Amino acid sequence: MEKLLEVKDLEVSFKTYAGEIKAVRGVSFDINKGEIVAIVGESGCGKSVTAQSIMRLIPMPPGIIKKGSIIFEGRDITKLSEREMEHIRGSEMSMVFQDPMTSLNPTMKVGAQIAESLIKHQKMHSKEAWKKAIEMLKMVGIPNAEKRANQYPHEFSGGMRQRAMIAIALACNPKLLIADEPTTALDVTIQAQILDLMRDLQKKLNTAIIIITHNLGVVANLAERVLVMYAGKIIERGNLDDIFYNPRHPYTWGLLMSVPTPDLDKSKKLASIEGTPPDLFAPPVGCPFAPRCEYAMKICYEKYPEEFTVSDGHSVACWLMHPLAPKVKPPVGKGVTLS
Ligand code: SF4
Repeated sequence: MEKLLEVKDLEVSFKTYAGEIKAVRGVSFDINKGEIVAIVGESGCGKSVTAQSIMRLIPMPPGIIKKGSIIFEGRDITKLSEREMEHIRGSEMSMVFQDPMTSLNPTMKVGAQIAESLIKHQKMHSKEAWKKAIEMLKMVGIPNAEKRANQYPHEFSGGMRQRAMIAIALACNPKLLIADEPTTALDVTIQAQILDLMRDLQKKLNTAIIIITHNLGVVANLAERVLVMYAGKIIERGNLDDIFYNPRHPYTWGLLMSVPTPDLDKSKKLASIEGTPPDLFAPPVGCPFAPRCEYAMKICYEKYPEEFTVSDGHSVACWLMHPLAPKVKPPVGKGVTLS
């Protein structure tokens, strides 16, 4: 498969009066053309900061890309000028955010918001861009698109606003779409419709998608590969089967156990991961999950685990994978069912 994006050893910090928050700490991964990859983890694990760094949307200052490179189609995004980035954003890569209401312009007709990006990036005339905007609304499944294009965002339901956002993001046929918690604000039925829509569009347009989520149910429905992030690092990576049926990191086990399943005993409390993520002002030298991990050993507090290979494409940063570590039977894995 042909590589589209290569993130290498990325470090992103925020300099505040209280000190430096090390939000992303040496993250490396690749995205192939037309591939769907999920970045999963709790709030504050660095997944959104990673995505915003790819789009160069982190506010600088206080944000700073301290180290590493982001190679998109042969160009290092970290070295481009803001003018060059303005051209890339919207035309070659675009982003869909969690809350469409805050991303859409409330004073502009929805059709005009789609047309705007076509006029800017594809130099279309306004008539042609308006026609294409209606086509885009039809493509994302908005009924009565001619009439809807003339309406304002407040006249749309939550699901329709998210569809409109996807139409804006895909209007210029970008090679990469980053969707940051795209279904979190929606109810489950609409959530499923939006995920189906994204999968269909990816097939039709061959757009690579990075989906950022805390919800492993979303991942199971959409992604081909999964990166699990914790405390600014990728702690496990693999394809969908690796992560769901052969997970190796105790944090991934915790995430899987906290997903509600259809056969969940309603009298029992849903499992959760006890404790809180570490302070990223002063991240620990060892495994950042150690204070919350029931399998933590002495070395876990002293040294950050190396990335052990489980199988081709599946690796995990956990000392339990060391040949000298005690053998632990994963509490989740084969046979797990997810909603
Ligand atoms: Fe737990 Fe140690 Fe593995 Fe970290 S490295 S997840 S503390 S066993």
